Amino acid sequence: MGADALFKRLAIIGIGLIGSSVARAARQFGQAERIVCADLSPENRAEALRLGVVDEAFADPADAVRGADLVLLSIPLGAYGAVGQAMAPGLTAGTLITDVGSCKQSVLRDLAPHLPPGVSFIPGHPVAGTEHSGPAAGFAELFRGRWCILTPTDEAPADKLESLRAFWAAFGSKVEMMDARHHDMVLAITSHVPHLIAYNIVGTADDLQAVTQSEVIKYSAGGFRDFTRIAASDPTMWRDVFLNNKEAVLEMLQRFTEDLTALQRAIRWDDGDTLFKLFSRTRTIRRAIIDAGQETAAADFGRDKADKA
Ligand code: NAP
Repeated sequence: MGADALFKRLAIIGIGLIGSSVARAARQFGQAERIVCADLSPENRAEALRLGVVDEAFADPADAVRGADLVLLSIPLGAYGAVGQAMAPGLTAGTLITDVGSCKQSVLRDLAPHLPPGVSFIPGHPVAGTEHSGPAAGFAELFRGRWCILTPTDEAPADKLESLRAFWAAFGSKVEMMDARHHDMVLAITSHVPHLIAYNIVGTADDLQAVTQSEVIKYSAGGFRDFTRIAASDPTMWRDVFLNNKEAVLEMLQRFTEDLTALQRAIRWDDGDTLFKLFSRTRTIRRAIIDAGQETAAADFGRDKADKA
């Protein structure tokens, strides 16, 4: 751990995939002198200690945040209210709280009411992940080359915002500031709706499997396989994403449904031009993603592709 570490005590609440990746990166890049965690699960606490990703692990979030100058929440979105209430007794003025949740308006709504005066909350979202969960799934390089979006409110102290920016930049992340509402709209179309489509198509195919027996798996290389990777993502996390970004997801789904109906019509009326024009336009989007270096992250490190959340 670096002598000139940015933070003295980093408390991570929820030591799963993202929390343990932050812990590993903070250690590797010398961003915190001491790293502690709190987690509901005794197994995850024991595993995080065994793997050496944290120095101490607590059951009670108040014990983990006591004396911390940076607290990072990495828990399902549905748990923010309860965790906010539980950790409040351990918080002191001057502490910076951040998070990694996939929706940003709901975290402000659920956490802010529990924070004592003098405690700053600057929400964040690393746009990186995999379909795996738990402390063993994390790795320090997860954030390298990926965006981390911070959604500070007008009250965020400039020095704290700068520290948080530097924290993520040290992991190799590209940091962007955004309004929370705008974040939720952007992520609805780039991440949340694609996940819903994947969950839905895999569910539909599974229902059909009763008719087609094992053919769905046998011929999965025809496109289905890529959907199954996304549809293997954590059920708790994704249930909470949809319940906490309702407005934006429903708006994007409405547009998606209209566009799908137009494609249905093109197929019915042998309108090949419409299909060809769309498929050509989407091909250029794929090329732009590759050119921007956003195609994979974890794959570069010998793991599954990471285009998540
Ligand atoms: P994860 O691997 O399941 O880790 C979450 C951890 O939090 C688990 O150890 C879980 O314990 C624990 N936990 C659950 N409720 C808790 C509570 N009330 N108090 C303390 N600990 C609690 O999930 P993750 O993928 O790291 O996701 C964490 C956050 O990151 C989510 O908000 C998600 O939206 C965001 N995110 C995820 C990704 C991604 O691709 N996975 C990407 C960017 C952001 P149990 O296992 O016992 O439930």
